[in-house]
Amino acid sequence: MKIAGWKRTSLVDFPGVVSCVLFTKGCNFRCPWCHNKGLLDSTGEEDTAPMAAFRLPASRKGKVGGVVITGGEPTVQTDLEEFLETLRPTGLSIKLDTNGSNPRCLERILGRGLVDYVALDLKAPWDRYDEACGVVVDTEAIRDSIRLLQESAVAHHLRTTDWAVFDEREREAILRAAGTSPHRWQVLRSGHRAPQAPPPQTDSIGLKSENAVGRSPGQRQASHSSHRLVEV
Ligand code: SF4
Repeated sequence: MKIAGWKRTSLVDFPGVVSCVLFTKGCNFRCPWCHNKGLLDSTGEEDTAPMAAFRLPASRKGKVGGVVITGGEPTVQTDLEEFLETLRPTGLSIKLDTNGSNPRCLERILGRGLVDYVALDLKAPWDRYDEACGVVVDTEAIRDSIRLLQESAVAHHLRTTDWAVFDEREREAILRAAGTSPHRWQVLRSGHRAPQAPPPQTDSIGLKSENAVGRSPGQRQASHSSHRLVEV
């Protein structure tokens, strides 16, 4: 697993659950308005977090109720399932954020009961998906992922960032694509500044503030973003 940043406490990333958050490195999409551009490139070991980041969930037991695995796109990590297995003994509820592009990975994760909640990005109406993601997208894979979630017993919701580029017809098309799944709109709140953290340490998590956001040296976007997504 390549983990590029972390947050010790979040009140907004896991519905109804105070959580800690791990940001994975690497994404197969290039959404023009990506709020985590610093996490997209998965090359280079130098930007990944120290081992302490991997121990964060266990160290937060009793202080948070869940852990969120987000990115980047977590399903591009080849050892995601093994990593989720290591989180189970913590007793924390596990939420996965995904862009839905890897239904086979999602199917295995759901089938093995490795997560308790999934949030899937439904980026755009199908006819604007490539534009919204900055790459050519196999939208059948996204539909597959949505179907899997709807057929599973795992709690989930779909979410769409409203970049004020969708007209009414397109917004309706997005809601149709969501089908029976709960759906939330996300808005971009400019001016937000995430709290900063001291440099990561190797012998402890090394973060002093409950709300501190950790990151590896090259990953400034995850922690210094001047905006954040808020679900409405
Ligand atoms: S899927 Fe998420 S992390 Fe990947 S480019 Fe799009 S917004 Fe960024």
